[in-house]
Amino acid sequence: MKKTALFPGSFDPFTKGHADVVRRGRKIFDEIIISIGYNQKKTRREFEVDFMIRKIEEAFADDSGIKVITYNELTAHLAQKYNANFLLRGLRNTTDFEYENSIAQINSHIFENLETVFLITSPEYAYISSSIVREIYKYGQNIEDFIPYKL
Ligand code: ADP
Repeated sequence: MKKTALFPGSFDPFTKGHADVVRRGRKIFDEIIISIGYNQKKTRREFEVDFMIRKIEEAFADDSGIKVITYNELTAHLAQKYNANFLLRGLRNTTDFEYENSIAQINSHIFENLETVFLITSPEYAYISSSIVREIYKYGQNIEDFIPYKL
């Protein structure tokens, strides 16, 4: 059976840390669906969602096992819809762990066949976070060292 994982997040912006998790995840899963959670009415993004989709697709143009979508519903429901039995998440530190632990429990409660698989961040990317990249970008700093595509 084909193993499909969703990789959900805000990806505002998608960073080299995210790309590393996806590339490594592809050694485990046949297909990874990068799922950008987005509610047009509630969230103001720094990087437009359509722009981000294009850039992520560009970064993984060499791999047909990687797709990009947006969604505005419960992640567990989205997984059911796509017949994805796995959620892929990255773990950088204990703060990530505390948060991820709760959502993983809730998600498997909603959809019992859903397993969350965590990959420990590669040390060279562990310090990269979307919020910091976004912040320095707002102040005009070049962020190309942190993202896997050209702006
Ligand atoms: P969220 O809005 O859910 O925090 P993000 O877009 O920030 O989503 O991140 C999505 C996933 O990527 C999360 O599992 C997060 O822990 C992971 N992640 C974020 N930054 C990195 C990084 N530098 N290296 C590895 N994983 C990361």
